[in-house]
Parts: sequence; C-alpha cells; structure tokens
Amino acid sequence: MDIKKVEGLIRELLIEIGEDPEREGLKKTPYRVAKAYEFLTGGYKKNIKEVINNAVFESEVNNMIIARDIEVYSLCEHHMLPFFGKCHIGYIAENKVLGVSKLARIVDLFARRLQIQERLTSQIAEAVMEEAGASGVGVVMECRHLCMMMRGVEKQNSVMTTSSVLGSLRTEDAARAEFLQLINRQL
Ligand code: ZN
Repeated sequence: MDIKKVEGLIRELLIEIGEDPEREGLKKTPYRVAKAYEFLTGGYKKNIKEVINNAVFESEVNNMIIARDIEVYSLCEHHMLPFFGKCHIGYIAENKVLGVSKLARIVDLFARRLQIQERLTSQIAEAVMEEAGASGVGVVMECRHLCMMMRGVEKQNSVMTTSSVLGSLRTEDAARAEFLQLINRQL
C-alpha cells in the first residue's frame, strides 16, 4: 500500500466532508488513517501457508477440537465500517492438529480484508478443513455491524449469526450436535 497516496486521498476526504485538514487535531490524521487501513486490510498480503507456518502436529486420537470466543474484527465491504464479534470453530482431527494460536491467526487472515460475514465464515471453515486435513469443520460467527448500528436502520442490539459446516459435521447429526453443544449455541 502506498501510504503517501492514501494520505492524499484521506486529506481530500476530510475537505469533502467539510473539515480543515490543516487544523491541529487533523494534521496527522491522514497518516494515521492510512496506517490503520494498512493494518486492517493486511490480510490481502498474507497467505494461509505463511500463517500456518508448518504448525501442524501429529495426533494419535481423532477428537473434536473446539476454540470458542475467538475475537473477530473486520470491515464490511459495503460501507467499509467495522463489524466485530465472536467466532467459534470446531473440527474433527484426522491424525493432525493445528497449533493452538493458529485458529485465531486464520480468523485474522480473512477478517483483515473487506468482507461480508457470510463469506468470512465460510473462508475460515474451508481453510481449517484444508490445513488441518480435518474430516469435518464447523464455524459459527456472531457479529454486530456498525453500518447497521450507526446508520441505516440503526438497530443497536442486533447480532448477526452465520455458520458454515463442512464434511462429517454436515453429514452426521451426532457430530453436529456435539459441536453445537460444545460451543453452547443452538442454530
Ligand atoms: Zn455494511
């Protein structure tokens, strides 16, 4: 990302909304906004192999592994406003498990892009399925969208829930029930 160029664009934006980019409080704002966007959209510059970085380990047992309440912060692609909440991931290991921090890193990889919640949820599920070589994956995400809360319908308390269920968690009722019980949510 060309920071200088984005600084210029934000400066223009400040003028268009009726602000004075030269006033004290705004002088460094274009730079700060550019740096913030660079970070918040950093997922475009990374790929899944870098994120996993070989942290896949052999495992004797094929259990269901659950990570609950992973924080999610993303930007909606319609308004470029934040949406944020929690992500719950479960997968059934097939002799391989992912390092503990990796599920959170996978979430960030896809969340730090312009997104819709539905696509973010399925991208995370597909990545876990692929990288863990899991036989089944379930992802449930619950988020609040500032574009709904601050503008438009101004629904302050609505939480959007999305899910993506793949493999044996899709086909086997018992496995799916176990997953839902473990994340303590009902769909
Ligand atoms: Zn939006």
